[in-house]
Amino acid sequence: MSQNDFVIKDGVLEGYNGTDEEITIPSEVKEIASFACCKNDKLKSVIIPNSVVTIGDSAFKDCFYLEKVVIGNGINIIKPNAFENCSKLTEVIMPTNLEYISSKAFANTGIRYIWQNNNRCATCGGKFKGLIKPKCSNCLRYKDY
Ligand SMILES: [Zn+2]
Repeated sequence: MSQNDFVIKDGVLEGYNGTDEEITIPSEVKEIASFACCKNDKLKSVIIPNSVVTIGDSAFKDCFYLEKVVIGNGINIIKPNAFENCSKLTEVIMPTNLEYISSKAFANTGIRYIWQNNNRCATCGGKFKGLIKPKCSNCLRYKDY
């Protein structure tokens, strides 16, 4: 992954020109602009760092191969249509402090549930670990949604 593939102006990510399937957005980014990464047909996974506060309208719209997104603790707003039509998107890891997600942010995706990173096991209170299939670190039960 080359940092040069990211188009960043004054802390705003305006685009990604690389061809990687897995990207980590650079930590200098505070905001992901509207349509910044839309229609990327390579992306499978995106890690959004703690520095990012806002994910703009349609920022990842029509990324048809996107499966997983990890969102950092700094996020305040996920705007409408941010992940619209990402039909393979089934895993989104959210920080607990996010208070508002636009109802259309995940429209027409594969997401059935959104869970928060520090949710506790209903059986024993242990912490869940793992992104794809979270498992209780104490009793080893898989998280059941
Ligand atoms: Zn447990």
